[in-house]
Amino acid sequence: MSSKLPTYSFKIVILGESAVGKTSLLLRFHKNQFSTDLESTIGASHVQKSINTTDCQMQLLIWDTAGQEQYHSLAPMYYRGARGALIAYDRTSYKSFERAKNWIKEIQKKGSPNVRIVLVGNKVDLEKQEVKSSEALNYAKENDMLFFETSAKTGEGVQEAFLALVKLLPKKE
Ligand code: GDP
Ligand code: MG
Repeated sequence: MSSKLPTYSFKIVILGESAVGKTSLLLRFHKNQFSTDLESTIGASHVQKSINTTDCQMQLLIWDTAGQEQYHSLAPMYYRGARGALIAYDRTSYKSFERAKNWIKEIQKKGSPNVRIVLVGNKVDLEKQEVKSSEALNYAKENDMLFFETSAKTGEGVQEAFLALVKLLPKKE
């Protein structure tokens, strides 16, 4: 039944400063888990995930970094062919929000033309808040991207953010 549905494959990258929670967001989306021992839970740099919608099957190849983001730039192969990007910052760190803006410029410069972007403010379970929601939302609006606040720890907003990104992807092979 589902095999008759058209299948689309997409590459998605997760970008953002070190320690904002990129790998945790991926683990939450992929396995609905949270772990403080990530090395042993996600050892791979990519994760494959299939999503069935009513009219198609979407195969996502989601790329995560292995810490190279600390050098503030990634190898071209990381961006190559990526149709979607989830750009994350840590809501408790204004600096990580500033860095997210740089990652957005980086993917717009080095990624596919028309790459779809979702901005994510992570760690909303923590009381500390250095990045105002309204500021991030305004930035996202001005730059034509969707914005979500998430917690990889509790799961809040995580599915919503990834699925919103998936919905933005153009349906062609
Ligand atoms: P990455 O370097 O961007 O991949 O970040 P990690 O996923 O490795 O997370 C960095 C640290 O933040 C780890 O100690 C995580 O347990 C923690 N962390 C990640 N997401 C959250 C979250 O939503 N809430 C809280 N409280 N901690 C988080
Ligand atoms: Mg990581």
